[in-house]
Amino acid sequence: MKFYNIKHPNDSLVDFSHAVIYGLGRDQGLFFPSYLPEFTNSEIDDLLNMDFITRSVEILSVYINNGILSKNQILNCVSSSFTFPVPVLWIDDNIAVLELFHGPTLAFKDFGARFMAQMLIEINKYVKLSYMTILTATSGDTGAAVAHAFHNVDNIQVVILYPENKISVLQEKLFSTLGGNIHTIAVNGDFDVCQLLVKQAFSDDLLNKKLFLNSANSMNICRLLAQVCYFFEAVAQLPPLLRNKIIISVPSGNFGNLTAGLLAKSLGLPIKRFIAATNINDTVPRFLSTGSWEPRATVPTLSNAMDVSVPSNWERIMLLFRNKNWNLSELSYGSVHDTIVCDTISGMFNDYSYLSEPHAAVSYYLLRNELKCGDYGLFLGTAHPAKFKDILDTILDKNIASVLLPDCLSSRIFSPSLSVRMPNNFELFREFMLDLKY
Ligand SMILES: *Cc1c(COP(=O)(O)O)cnc(C)c1O
Repeated sequence: MKFYNIKHPNDSLVDFSHAVIYGLGRDQGLFFPSYLPEFTNSEIDDLLNMDFITRSVEILSVYINNGILSKNQILNCVSSSFTFPVPVLWIDDNIAVLELFHGPTLAFKDFGARFMAQMLIEINKYVKLSYMTILTATSGDTGAAVAHAFHNVDNIQVVILYPENKISVLQEKLFSTLGGNIHTIAVNGDFDVCQLLVKQAFSDDLLNKKLFLNSANSMNICRLLAQVCYFFEAVAQLPPLLRNKIIISVPSGNFGNLTAGLLAKSLGLPIKRFIAATNINDTVPRFLSTGSWEPRATVPTLSNAMDVSVPSNWERIMLLFRNKNWNLSELSYGSVHDTIVCDTISGMFNDYSYLSEPHAAVSYYLLRNELKCGDYGLFLGTAHPAKFKDILDTILDKNIASVLLPDCLSSRIFSPSLSVRMPNNFELFREFMLDLKY
């Protein structure tokens, strides 16, 4: 399997290792598989009977197979990354949740970030870069997942940009307190501003040459491929009778998670349809309804990890639909306002005793509206409710003692943030980068 640059399809193809190391191709083009493999029905049945780790190695091998990384190396990476449970819980007769937040930083991004860190360690055994710089912009959970996944990894410095005062204190403390090889910058601006600074850095020749920049954002194909695995795990946990009947609602910001789900479907996973669920940063739902792509200024919401108005992965989704001859009308969509999110969280708590949080509530609300008689729905729980304790206490008007944070995380709240503050200024940011010590 090779990967090509979406922006320059005629550039030479790269193998998986180089797609991971480069992160992005020329002119910041995203990498995409050169063909879309498909399992036969009986292969799918076999896969769904395997345990999570064994199955994930089989799935990833399809893309990673490059004659350099062995299945055994992939197994090592998978088994040291996917170390936490991925439960499907039924909360009503026809609605279940896939809880993706039991990793070390309590959000689904742990899957992709941890797998990518392990893969880079393996890849570096033969590519032998002397060092590498992970540069990433975060609207919340990416920063924590990447920082924890790469903390103390030799020869790698990590720089994380995030919008100052636009993410929760706990989210910020999760990555800004680690120190060592983890550098964090609070930028005066929103997530799109941070992403733009990162893009500028990637198009700066000197920075690239000197620092071996690598984006660990969901733009990196490695993270997406890791996420394909838990869509298979979800279907494996559902009764076989529900195959082809299940509708999956994906709370979306940069649309990496939905891209991974669609890749899973392209491999033959029997899913009926997906819902692209957003908050009021609804560039994609408006595009799907009107056919015109008109991003607006990003608006802060309770589901802040989804506050993205120019989602990078949308290009990949368009390509997938085109290459598979799927019709965009097969994709359901919707956007949800914060007031409805609050009502939805109370409703879920009162009706099902299920404590949710704003991101999952967006996907649950749209799923509930979409389901018709005989349909079954699954929504993704992308973050642990404990991360949103303050908001939840206010919405539910009680102190939610039952969601106390795991000790290792609650202690972080009292550690001082080591972030530097910076205006939206590329020159200053560039100087910071050139001062990094390896
Ligand atoms: C990142 C994130 C999302 C959005 O995922 P994308 O892959 O960027 O669409 C949703 N929920 C939570 C909790 C997140 O951290």
